[in-house]
Parts: sequence; structure tokens; C-alpha cells
Amino acid sequence: MIAALALFLFTAAAGRVWCGYACPQTVWVDLFLIIERFIEGDRNARIRLEDSAWTLPKIAKRLVKHGIWLAIAALTGGAWAFYFADAPTLLVDLFTLQAEEIAYISVGVLTATTYALGGLAREQVCTYMCPWPRIQSAMIDEDSLIISYQERRGEPRGRGGRRDGLGDCVNCNQCVVVCPMGIDIRDGMQLECISCALCVDACNSVMDKVGKPRGLIGYNTLANLDKGKELQRSQIRLLRPRTILYGVLIAVVGAIMLAALLTRPVLELNVQRDRNPLFVTLSNGDIRNGYTVKILNKIHQTRHFRLTLDGFPDAVIKVIGRDDHAPLFTVPPDQLASFRVLVSTAKANLTGDTTDIRLLILDQENGVSAENRTVFRGPKR
Ligand code: SF4
Ligand code: SF4
Repeated sequence: MIAALALFLFTAAAGRVWCGYACPQTVWVDLFLIIERFIEGDRNARIRLEDSAWTLPKIAKRLVKHGIWLAIAALTGGAWAFYFADAPTLLVDLFTLQAEEIAYISVGVLTATTYALGGLAREQVCTYMCPWPRIQSAMIDEDSLIISYQERRGEPRGRGGRRDGLGDCVNCNQCVVVCPMGIDIRDGMQLECISCALCVDACNSVMDKVGKPRGLIGYNTLANLDKGKELQRSQIRLLRPRTILYGVLIAVVGAIMLAALLTRPVLELNVQRDRNPLFVTLSNGDIRNGYTVKILNKIHQTRHFRLTLDGFPDAVIKVIGRDDHAPLFTVPPDQLASFRVLVSTAKANLTGDTTDIRLLILDQENGVSAENRTVFRGPKR
């Protein structure tokens, strides 16, 4: 919940910063593009290569590119499988063909999806598969930061040294070339724009070269765009009712979660009574019930508990497989331990065919206890 609310807050304040800077899909696409650029050259070189015949150098470049993409996909996406197992053991098992079938399937599926989404589908994932672009439009208002083009300053666009009657845009198309989403920001705010700001950097370097002020493409707000102005730092309104509301919600949820964490019990006792048989009459006339006692130790230390029973003064507690009465139960760190327990008492102690009892466990070191209320069954009266 905190992650979702934080996403709402950042989107309301600064637009699609998640998409442009933190989304794994963006990070993978960027990484795969760097490899592609390194092997096949810039955009023009890649277009020429794409249009050329299948020669040996082209085949070699494509093999190397896809080989590196697959290796990255296996080392990043496929490696997720290691999170769910003992990583060094799984690694050795994978290479010695000793791993479970499911491990090969998991690594294979995660590698294939990373390769396909980051290398092949790329921006199509953001445009057609991801629901977030649609959802976030509800979080953006006229004061949210968006990437935009200063139309009044840039238009009419045109190339050439003689700029009479022309705006600042020299129509070099650098902003389109660098855009990972393949859009032209000069056409206005678009659903596909992930606010990566690559067009801002590209245009600023063009403006530097032609001796014009930076910021033809830059961060702005819808409110400011309507006035046709560039955004000044002093105009950025981060504190608005919407952002304050998200901030307050994050604080409230965080406080509730912190309180729940600090007050969470570190010990749990669950008791299940045997249903078949409901009770056993012993040869001396006493009545015996069987229970499954489960002790959940939620701390990182081995703990020893003593089990007692509240309800019958002379009840005999016996753990199946052990001879001691009122025995000690040892539970390893962060583990659930299960014991079979038999409780016997004289028939005269029963108040009816069902008697309420309370089982208690007491930590022998720190006195922390837990209890569970259950019943003791006997013959009908
Ligand atoms: S328009 Fe600019 S900010 Fe938007 S995705 Fe393209 S390069 Fe990134
Ligand atoms: S990079 Fe700047 S100058 Fe070049 S086309 Fe885009 S907006 Fe115009």
C-alpha cells in the first residue's frame, strides 16, 4: 500500500517519473539499447543494417547482439529463480543437470520473458500492455510536471541559417531520434511519453550549438503551458491538496503498519483437538483426550516452552513419544513445531460431556506466554 501511495504521490508531483527512471522495463530497454548501439551503431547505421542483405558481418552482429541480450536476460530476469532457493546450490545443480525440472522451467521462462519484453517488444509493453499509463492520467493535474515543447517559441519550425519568421526549432528531429517511445513531443502531450527526458537533453544540446537558450523542450505544467510560458523553478507547486492527501495517507498507513509490527506477537499457540476418537476411557476409569499442539516461534532464537493446563487440577499431560510430564518443548528459530499431546483426568473432574480448558505455554527464558482455549470431551451424563 505504501508503494502504491508513493507512486501516486510521485506521479501527482512529477508526472511519470516511475516510467522514465525506475520501471524495470525502462531499465532493461535502456540496457538492451546500449548493447544494440555498441554493436550496430547509431540509429542511421542500424536502419542501413536492417535494410542491407544478409551478409556474414550482418549475421555476426545480430548473433552477438542477441547472444548478449540473452545472457543479460538470464543473469537478471532468469536469476530471479535464485531468490526462492539456496542460490549457490541451485547454481551448481543447474550446471550439473541435477536441478529439479521446475528450476529449469522457471529460469527458462523468466529469461525468455525478459529477453522478449526488454529486447523485442520494448516500448510496445508500455503502450499496449502496461495499465499504468491509463491509471496515472487520473493522478495528474494542471500543476503536475510533464515534459513538453514550447510551441510558441519553437514554431514555425524550419531548417537553415536564415531564421526570419521562424521559431527556435531547427527541425533537426534529434528529439524524435532519441525518443525510446518513437514519438514526437512537438505534437503535444501523449500517452506514450514516459517522461524519460532524453528529448530534453537532445534539444538542449542542439540549442547550445545554434546559440539559442535551452528549454525549448523541458519540464512544464499544463497550467503554465496554457499561458505559453516556460516554467520557472519558483512556479513549481509541490504542496497541493492532492499531494498533501497522498502524503497524509502514506503517513497514516505507515504508522498503522509500524504499530502492527511493534505490537505483533512473537509467539503463537494453536491447539487442535482429536475428533476421532472424541475421548478414550482408560482402564482406571480416567478420561483421555488427544490434541495436536502447534507452537509458532517468531524470533530468531531457539526457545524452550513449558506446557501447562488450566482447568483440571490433577490433569496428566503426556507428549507422545516422551515420558516426561509437563514437558519442555523446544522450537527452533522462526519455526512452527508440532507435538501430539494426550491429556488425562479423573472422570469426576468433568463438569459435563464438554469441559472448557486452557492450554498455556511459557517461554522459560523471558516469561513470554501464549494460551489457547479448547474443550475436553467426556462421556454423556
Ligand atoms: S517524448 Fe521525450 S520524455 Fe517522452 S518518452 Fe520520448 S524522449 Fe522520453
Ligand atoms: S531537438 Fe529541438 S530543435 Fe531539434 S527538432 Fe526537436 S524540438 Fe526542434
